[in-house]
Amino acid sequence: MAVGAMMARIGLVAHDDKKAEMVEWAKRHSDRLCRHELFATGTTGGRIRDEAKLEVYLFKSGPLGGDQQLGARIADGGLDALVFFIDPLTALPHDVDVKALTRLATLYGTLFACNRATADAVLMALEAEKR
Ligand code: PGA
Repeated sequence: MAVGAMMARIGLVAHDDKKAEMVEWAKRHSDRLCRHELFATGTTGGRIRDEAKLEVYLFKSGPLGGDQQLGARIADGGLDALVFFIDPLTALPHDVDVKALTRLATLYGTLFACNRATADAVLMALEAEKR
């Protein structure tokens, strides 16, 4: 990651049962998140934009290719961190896309959070990186 003094590019995704948690997290950190460039799958990003009042670039909805678009950004070096609130209790039709996105985040060493605790830690790491 080469964030330096610049803003970070952060990907945001939440499965349906985790969207309320993502919105709550985004609201809580809106003063920090507004300093970064945010990218999200369609439904997650739309809710963050409308409810947390943050500027978010919207990809397609996850099941329609949004996870893959975020993965492509990672492969192109266009994402510094990924916050992905995964629902471990629900079978998803696009499970292969979820796996592909987490695989690429792992492969490219992306800062990667899968729940609120690690998302807080990722934000702190980005702040530390900026100093
Ligand atoms: P969504 O996609 O934000 O468009 O719901 C998330 C996902 O399920 O991958």
